[in-house]
Amino acid sequence: MKIICIGRNYAEHIAELQNERPSEPVIFMKPDSAILPAHNPFYIPEFSNDIHYEVEIVVKINRLGKHIATRFAPKYYDEIGLGIDFTARDLQNKLKDKGLPWEKAKAFDGSAVIGDFLPKAHFEDINAIEFGLIKNEEWVQKGNSSLMLWKIDEIIAYVSQYFTLKIGDLIFTGTPAGVGKVSPEDELKGFIGNQKMFEVKVK
Ligand code: ZN
Repeated sequence: MKIICIGRNYAEHIAELQNERPSEPVIFMKPDSAILPAHNPFYIPEFSNDIHYEVEIVVKINRLGKHIATRFAPKYYDEIGLGIDFTARDLQNKLKDKGLPWEKAKAFDGSAVIGDFLPKAHFEDINAIEFGLIKNEEWVQKGNSSLMLWKIDEIIAYVSQYFTLKIGDLIFTGTPAGVGKVSPEDELKGFIGNQKMFEVKVK
């Protein structure tokens, strides 16, 4: 399976990192080795002094597809979850400055936290999902899928022009504003609405 991630999909997050608003979705990938095994702590890797959390809605693909039209995209997923796209921001900034690929900063071991999934039928409107992240009992990120620059179905249509989507593939749909650094002993909890989707301890 593969993890496809969308960068710069929320205007306020683009602004906080002083990035340019893209004219097309920004895409990068994580290998399956990036998945943090369930209930494991996240260990801050030695190569970074600035690991950021990014809470994101995650879509699980349930059908093989390529060149999917936006209007047919809803047929390709029936579960929505929540995860963290851990990012070595210091390393990413160096790579960005040089115009180099982001993999070392984005796709390292443990960089993908994947929480529980909810059936699509749970949601009244896929484009109005409230979600957020609590760090040490304090809300640090709050988002709503209505604020995505590219909505879930548009993302599926876009990425499937380049990559065949397979059963079990995951799409991280971008992070809202409020990203920040993690430190040892931090506790992160992700929520969709008031439902807890994951809990991670940082070491
Ligand atoms: Zn992200």
